[in-house]
Amino acid sequence: MSDWNCVLATDLDGTFLGGSEEQRERLYRHIEDRDDLLLIFVTGRDIGFIAELVAQPGMPRPRLIIGDVGTSIYDGDSFEPIPALEAEIAARWGDAGARVVEMLKDEPGLTLQPTPFRHRVSYDCRPAELAPDLVARVEAEGFDGLLSAGRFFDVLPNGIAKGPTLLRLVEHFGLDAERVLVAGDTMNDLSLFETGLKGVAVGNSEPDLVAAIKDRPRVYRSPQEGAGGIADALAHFEFQTKAAS
Ligand SMILES: [Mg+2]
Repeated sequence: MSDWNCVLATDLDGTFLGGSEEQRERLYRHIEDRDDLLLIFVTGRDIGFIAELVAQPGMPRPRLIIGDVGTSIYDGDSFEPIPALEAEIAARWGDAGARVVEMLKDEPGLTLQPTPFRHRVSYDCRPAELAPDLVARVEAEGFDGLLSAGRFFDVLPNGIAKGPTLLRLVEHFGLDAERVLVAGDTMNDLSLFETGLKGVAVGNSEPDLVAAIKDRPRVYRSPQEGAGGIADALAHFEFQTKAAS
């Protein structure tokens, strides 16, 4: 699994699923038409959402899926977790779901998301109502706290996020890091850009993310939104066609 011309590791909402219908259709057709591109979804969504998504006509099927904000890794054919890649994540989480829910049950500004959790707990949040020391308290309990898109708050295993999990996957499958393109639009994608891999922040990226990637020369800031930004970046990094060999 090592001689791909391009490994596209992309966020879903606002990125792969963003842009105009025409931009999405064109990108999806391009991906379906080539056999030298490895598609990886890297999303905050759970596996149920992803299974429904890829069942839709015209939606390319990913070979690998990093779900739940980097805390789950699935085979894209079977939708089964890959235990060798999840072992460290599960160990760091330590079955802490119930403890986190109890800890934050009366926390102002947080509403528990109605989704099953494996190695994380996520909330819809109202940032203006959050206690200023919320992240510090979450960290003091041994977790990471991540505010994203101005409306989500994730409690994650310490040191686990989309980027570190993608690096673990790249190493596990012996992928060529120079052939990887990461794509995102919100703060929960920042860890993807902190990997040092080539990246694109799409045109509709949230301002906090744009500010955070400003001095990262390997991150291309596309003027195009969502799927249009990904297509733009494939051209920008010359991932558009098979490399001459
Ligand atoms: Mg997104």
